[in-house]
Amino acid sequence: MAGYFEEMGWSELRDGEQPNHLLHMARFLLDVGVYDEDFSGQWPRLPPPASKNAIANLQEFIMENDVKNCPICLKDFNIGEKALEMPCHHLFHAACILTWLERTNSCPFCRHELPTDDEAYEAFKKEKKRAEQRKEDIEILHNSMFS
Ligand SMILES: [Zn+2]
Ligand SMILES: [Zn+2]
Repeated sequence: MAGYFEEMGWSELRDGEQPNHLLHMARFLLDVGVYDEDFSGQWPRLPPPASKNAIANLQEFIMENDVKNCPICLKDFNIGEKALEMPCHHLFHAACILTWLERTNSCPFCRHELPTDDEAYEAFKKEKKRAEQRKEDIEILHNSMFS
């Protein structure tokens, strides 16, 4: 893994240095396993961007302390700095999370998904839910028959 980032010119941020979003994205995509080879039952590529509506509805949050850092660029928030809050309550710099959500719809920290404008993806999600429900039904049936 190290070789890959070295090749891309990856290095830790120094004070006052701005994050290179694409590099951070790439690192995150690898970390969260979006590029996993095993796609069984998975959407075969990066999920689509969050819907415009979902992005517009993200809550602004004014940082009251500086104990947190932004999970995308890893820089500390300053007191009084504006952050955007995802529905899962994770906080990011607006620039960081907006760049992220323009690429894919889930929280980079916990993978909480926002709705998308992509019909195919939404249909896939519904189908996946149905499949999980069926599996549960079968387990309940199985348990009731054999216990
Ligand atoms: Zn950030
Ligand atoms: Zn989250």
